[in-house]
Amino acid sequence: MIDLHVHSTASDGSETPSAVVRSAAAAGLTAIALTDHDTQSGIAEARAEASQSGLELIGGTELSLEWAQGAMHLVVLFLEPGPGPLQNRLAALRTGRSERNDRIIDRLGELGLPVSGAEILDLAAGESVGRPHIAAVMVNRGYVASIADAFDRYLGRGMPAYMARPRLSPEEAIALARQSQAVPILAHPHTLGLNTSEEVTTTLRRLSSAGLIGIECYYPLYSPFEREGYAALAQRFGLKPSGGSDYHGTYKPDVELGIGRGNLAVADELLDPLRPT
Ligand code: AMP
Ligand code: ZN
Ligand code: FE
Ligand code: FE
Repeated sequence: MIDLHVHSTASDGSETPSAVVRSAAAAGLTAIALTDHDTQSGIAEARAEASQSGLELIGGTELSLEWAQGAMHLVVLFLEPGPGPLQNRLAALRTGRSERNDRIIDRLGELGLPVSGAEILDLAAGESVGRPHIAAVMVNRGYVASIADAFDRYLGRGMPAYMARPRLSPEEAIALARQSQAVPILAHPHTLGLNTSEEVTTTLRRLSSAGLIGIECYYPLYSPFEREGYAALAQRFGLKPSGGSDYHGTYKPDVELGIGRGNLAVADELLDPLRPT
């Protein structure tokens, strides 16, 4: 079993990179990809731990892309830390993220729900701070019942404290990933907001011409039927199947490493075809 979509305290996960690797090894996983949002700062620590634990640690990141209809996220696998075309863009994305966070804080204040930047930074241990950290502060202050509640009522798209941030276009992100010898994967495709089979065809043609390599077909929310559907779709567009739990520790309390909500199990056999050539 492998898990190709995992977050740590480097972004909005609750476990340190080394703790994530120890949990993965204890759960019997043979490989995981650390895909923290807009940062690779957890990878060195995770890799050091992985060499002790005997599992493969794949470097990566997750990017939010320009997409009006919904949320388009790109999981980038086999992205090595250090300088490179995509690596060099991550700092600017984090700056955009942090400016966006300040605007969210201002808006929450206007809504009568004050939170301070210091409280948020207190919770966030890494360099990529995000809405889940803000949501956790809102829970601590008793404004909302849970992180999911904070997104549903305030922080999610279309809600009163939602603020946009600069993103890469799909073409730009995919090209930068490929120029960095990394492997771009369309994450959790259900969040794109595609409503007709024409939209699915147009979008997957567009992404595949841009150089997309794979689709996340195995994801905690998906039934066996849906996984097979996404895998068939991947094949139709010349894309490879990938899968992961999108583990965030306590920030997504119902999702576990490797098994997701219980029945996710991404087979080792998916990994070799995804390796960069
Ligand atoms: P950000 O990158 O700061 O814009 O926040 C995006 C992250 O928030 C996602 O990667 C998820 O981890 C989390 N997230 C997004 N929507 C929800 C939701 N409805 N409930 C809980 N967490 C969410
Ligand atoms: Zn996240
Ligand atoms: Fe995502
Ligand atoms: Fe994720």
